[in-house]
Amino acid sequence: MNFDKLTFKDFENIPGIDLAERSKIFKAYLSYMGFDDFQSYRVVGKSGCNAEMSLESNFGDRFISYVSNDYLGFTQHPKVKASAIAGIEEYGTGAGASPLIGGFFNYHRLLERKIAAFFGRDEDCSVIYTTGYTANSASLQSLLQKEDLAIVDMAVHASVHEGCILTNKKTFLHNDLESLERILQNTMETYRTRMIVVDGVYSQDGDVAHLAEIVALAKRYGAYLMVDDAHGIGVLGRTGRGALEDLGLLSEVDFITGTFSKTFGAIGGYVICNSENAYFLKFQSRQQIFSATAGAATLGIVKAIELIDEEPQWKQRLNDNMFYFKQNLRTIGLDIGNTESAIIPLKLGDPVRTVDFNKQIFRQGIYANAILYPAVSKKDARIRMSLSALHTREQLDRTLEVLEDVAKMNVVTDR
Ligand code: PMP
Repeated sequence: MNFDKLTFKDFENIPGIDLAERSKIFKAYLSYMGFDDFQSYRVVGKSGCNAEMSLESNFGDRFISYVSNDYLGFTQHPKVKASAIAGIEEYGTGAGASPLIGGFFNYHRLLERKIAAFFGRDEDCSVIYTTGYTANSASLQSLLQKEDLAIVDMAVHASVHEGCILTNKKTFLHNDLESLERILQNTMETYRTRMIVVDGVYSQDGDVAHLAEIVALAKRYGAYLMVDDAHGIGVLGRTGRGALEDLGLLSEVDFITGTFSKTFGAIGGYVICNSENAYFLKFQSRQQIFSATAGAATLGIVKAIELIDEEPQWKQRLNDNMFYFKQNLRTIGLDIGNTESAIIPLKLGDPVRTVDFNKQIFRQGIYANAILYPAVSKKDARIRMSLSALHTREQLDRTLEVLEDVAKMNVVTDR
């Protein structure tokens, strides 16, 4: 088998090849690509997520890190840690059951109320999940059925696509309003319920959905709208309420989904919606019935939500870092696309060149991720960097220096 042109996706299924053989071939592919020598994926971190991390690696121990979506640095915030620890001290580590049958505690209810209030909704207008992934996949699977239609931007997160496996799905071109409107026009009478699903901030390009126009289209054509703002919350908006806030659209969207694993520094997800839909999900969504809730470290999230208002300096620092880093990357001449968030794609295009570029910066102490097909299209490989409020100016400057050097050596600048 010629491995050169293959990607992870090619091994999902190989017709006629059984699981044992498929796993063997895939392992051979990983070795061939050098993934088990230079550990591009599943690198073992030896310290917590932070602006600088200690890694198990052949190229040193300390790295300036851009792999965590811990945007405000709350995984390390003393008050967040103290709340999580106090929760564990009081309740123990696990919750022991799914929410429907004994795994719903007062700290879960507190979190549900807090996150609903954070979005300006009544206290029964939210549902929490154990991951952001299931907040999308499990909620969509129970909201949309065979008679319904999901209309999704082609760049939405994988969890949204998984949420659509029980319903019909049409995909519109990324951020292309005409493409969206065409689908809305052509499906007027065909489906019982139609739901447009977009991200607030897109996870690979860091760009923002055209939310004002999308809200207007949803209203005009009588479709529901779901916005997953996993990467916008804490980062965008005057008070950190995300991509919808400054447009005044927080109350105009039927379903806002998100995660507690990024800005809120923990694990978990949520859906914000009206109270009828919330009750429906609490009793109908399979994860609410068959999968256990998170333990009492959940109380750390409650504190993190409060800190967004109590300590706005973290968002300010992140926003300053975003401005400084992007401006300098553009000066160096690197293509960072249309990012408006803390996700910075260094768009190199060719996958081999991208992996190589990433190796070179890694050798110089910069830890970032090479993102390849199928996460992005085949010619759109990039290195993705996530900024944090904890990155210091010195760390950003050192990183810019390395990126400029490596870019010059490889002549990848835009100029
Ligand atoms: N939505 C988006 C846009 C994401 O980028 C991610 C994860 N990276 C998720 C949902 C899933 O969140 P979690 O990792 O908390 O399950």
